Amino acid sequence: MKSPLPDVTIPTEHGLAHVLLDRMQKFGSRTALIDALTHRKLTYVELRQVVLQLAGFLCGHGLTNNHLVLMACQNTIDFPVVFLALSYLGITVSTVNPRAKPGELWRLMLDCEPDYVVVTDTDVKNRIKNVMKEHKNLHIKEIFIVGSGSYPEYLDIEGLLKEEFHSSMCHHQHIIDVRHQVAALLYSSGTTGLPKGVMLSHYNILANIFQISHLVFRSPFAISNQQDTIMASLPFYHVYGLTIIQLCNLFSGNKLVVLPTFNLDTFLSAIEMYKVSFVYLVPPIAIQLIKDPRVSRYNLSSITSLFSGAAPISIELIKQIKKHLHIYDIRQGYGMTETSPGVLHPPLGHVKLGSVGIPLPNTEVKVVDPDTKMSLGSNQNGEIWIRGPQVMIGYHNSPDVSQQSIDSDGWLRSGDIGYYDEEGFFYIAGRLKEIIKYKGYQVSPNEIEAVLLTHPAVADAAVIGIDDEVAGQLPRAYVVPKSNHTPSASDIMQYVARELMEYKKLRGGVEFINQIPRSPSGKVLRQVLHQLVKLNPTSR
Ligand code: AMP
Repeated sequence: MKSPLPDVTIPTEHGLAHVLLDRMQKFGSRTALIDALTHRKLTYVELRQVVLQLAGFLCGHGLTNNHLVLMACQNTIDFPVVFLALSYLGITVSTVNPRAKPGELWRLMLDCEPDYVVVTDTDVKNRIKNVMKEHKNLHIKEIFIVGSGSYPEYLDIEGLLKEEFHSSMCHHQHIIDVRHQVAALLYSSGTTGLPKGVMLSHYNILANIFQISHLVFRSPFAISNQQDTIMASLPFYHVYGLTIIQLCNLFSGNKLVVLPTFNLDTFLSAIEMYKVSFVYLVPPIAIQLIKDPRVSRYNLSSITSLFSGAAPISIELIKQIKKHLHIYDIRQGYGMTETSPGVLHPPLGHVKLGSVGIPLPNTEVKVVDPDTKMSLGSNQNGEIWIRGPQVMIGYHNSPDVSQQSIDSDGWLRSGDIGYYDEEGFFYIAGRLKEIIKYKGYQVSPNEIEAVLLTHPAVADAAVIGIDDEVAGQLPRAYVVPKSNHTPSASDIMQYVARELMEYKKLRGGVEFINQIPRSPSGKVLRQVLHQLVKLNPTSR
């Protein structure tokens, strides 16, 4: 199914940052970003200026387009400044959750081999330094902290803004091969296995900004006088926070109210204080909005639209929001890291309950029988395949997996199950692939299994996601103890919690079994484990 919307022209002459900085000139002294806690802000003029100043500064200190920079940063108004300055220089940016544990940081850095790291606090810096001490094969030249202080320890963005602006700073831009140069290397598990670096080119991300702007915003390329105030509380290091929340909204001249991490009270008071009109969320936040008594203490009447992504939002939940919060424009989109991320989105003013909308411009989506690979007609469930300019180049260091994921005609296999109706609106019905989604975060079963196998009392293990009303899914482990060992469930849970980030905890419980069901080739037969859950749904 080709998008019913006319194609949009995607720029190919200039890199991502250049295109965005050009747009920013049109928004003048409008506020671009405001910190919800400190109230520090940047106007579009200041944002453009400080991006160029930082690019010039970094270029002067030897950063070049051959380098890769890892951002392990919380949400701050400086995040897009750093990202765009690096992108302006043609530097590939990789991102990681700043709360990643040492083992997680090490595995990611071993794969993306950063030359520099940017952090927002000393705690992450120390964690990375310890990883470097333990593993001598990392060659990081410098770890910068965003904050006031002197270089090389600090990247003082506020200080740079106070310095005089020389337009000569603008000449540091490197020639960028828009179609092939990787702008962002973001980690995702794809349809199977451990997290892999998704290579998104300047073209991929620009395409998605243009596609989304065309479909979502009131007047996509004209300069609207109306400025939406956006709640930016979802993590900026994830593709949803990077492309959709930051870049699309800065491209459209909106005002981003930035929260460092999600906390319901600060979230609600920022909506009230800044009269937020557009809220991006994930389903667990939507559940809090209708269930938590604190919500009634705040005036949320400024909100006109909600957008939910990253995981399925139920029809019942949408109805409850309309009833209790009187917000009627509730949209749900579908995407994935591998597609920069936007693929499906409701057309303006036409939301169908439960649907994730229609293909974005320039995008083709088909539903394929997973066994025969034949295209299916309307109202038949199958695997969703995607083709369009937003589809990644491939996975970093994984040519075989890239080839299995994108066929020779350019179709990306999403690993998701869904269908479309007679009007061409799509619905997501489930997941073929192994990843677990906890509150919108990706959890790789293989990653938890690899950790479990390092436990001294574990002989074999497998992890699956079990359904949960609030979080979507919870990771549950099936464990075969070594002979003469009797580990307890809480011991196993604590072990995983020590090694992996908070959202990967075994909240679905630990079950002990005699043998992990495996195929003759050794692949875990997860369907057999899902059958066990049906037999014993409540055990935790
Ligand atoms: P990520 O790469 O972390 O953005 O995860 C992408 C995956 O999230 C997709 O392949 C889907 O499994 C899931 N997903 C994203 N949006 C939706 C949605 N609206 N409904 C159901 N699942 C979704």
